[in-house]
Amino acid sequence: MSRSKAAALVMAAGAGERLGSRTPKQYLPLAGGPNALRRAIQALTAHPRIHQVQAVVSPEAHDLYLEATKGLQLKPPVPGGATRQESVRAGLEALAGTAQPDLILIHDAARPVIPAMVIDRVLDALEISEAATPAISVADTLAHTSDGLVRAPIPRDGLVQVQTPQGFRFNEILAAHRAHTDAGATDDISMIRLAGGTAKIVEGSPLLHKLTTEADKAMLERLLSAAPRVGNGYDVHAFGPGDHVTLCGVDITHGQGLAGHSDADVAMHAVTDAILGAIAAGDIGTHFPPSDPQWKGAASEIFLAEALRLVEARGGQLAHIDVTIVCEEPKIGPHRAAMQACMADILSLAADRVSVKATTSERLGFTGRREGIAALATATVLL
Ligand code: MG
Repeated sequence: MSRSKAAALVMAAGAGERLGSRTPKQYLPLAGGPNALRRAIQALTAHPRIHQVQAVVSPEAHDLYLEATKGLQLKPPVPGGATRQESVRAGLEALAGTAQPDLILIHDAARPVIPAMVIDRVLDALEISEAATPAISVADTLAHTSDGLVRAPIPRDGLVQVQTPQGFRFNEILAAHRAHTDAGATDDISMIRLAGGTAKIVEGSPLLHKLTTEADKAMLERLLSAAPRVGNGYDVHAFGPGDHVTLCGVDITHGQGLAGHSDADVAMHAVTDAILGAIAAGDIGTHFPPSDPQWKGAASEIFLAEALRLVEARGGQLAHIDVTIVCEEPKIGPHRAAMQACMADILSLAADRVSVKATTSERLGFTGRREGIAALATATVLL
């Protein structure tokens, strides 16, 4: 899988006064903390595959924008137009004139929570499709209504709820906007379709809930007040025959290997157990039994990614991991940055949320006698 970097447009130009306040909804504080716009910008900025975030705001809200983004390293906002479509076009033209990205995500600021995994799914889909959007299935029965009465029900089959961030190849979405200026589109997948393209659906998330009504605000505030949960993990692997050890996904040349059924990445196993511990979802052996031959020699990345998937399936967000590797050798220091980068990539976390440390045990005990390597880990999940 290639890992092309992308830019993101955050659309905040709407007046959004449905919440009964004169302040547009994206600028109202949420759960006593940052407003929706700041949260959306921070979520996109924190993602390791997004290198630039550009906001599009209505000129009248310029001061609100400055207040909302205080302290964040951002280019000045692009002034929006009279419609959402015009605003998106303005944002795309601004990016085209400067650091033109390969891929672009277009996100509505009214969705303050953006699971990192959804961003990855959208970007991954762009490897094979010209556009992609997250969507969730429709759970409720839908029906036409008039005069307060239910009219014809609408079959749910084939219906999805389309969300953002929607992803595009930059040149294609820019061309679509330039060619169809009067389409009146309310999202950008429609623009790609007008230009004759297709868009792939990827699994969205209920966390991408849109702030529209008071009830939405209450729901998002409950979500954002989520308490941190901390999990711990511990693992040991003995040295055995081999010429390298794998620690946090990084191969390190060594006179011995680590014995174990998978790739014996003791550090990544401890982190996986810490994440599973934070959501009380058993341990690595529950999900990947060592007795099952399909995990023989498996890359531990699979275990770690599954732990993250389970967190997000429960509506949680992984906030941080910290791992300590205990061994006399090999020396960890020279590989620490690569280990951090590897796990940040798998977990869709910013590097400053991934901590890798090492210590010896002063030649005491089994690690001190160089019989094996131990690892301890902690993970924080917001749930
Ligand atoms: Mg293990």
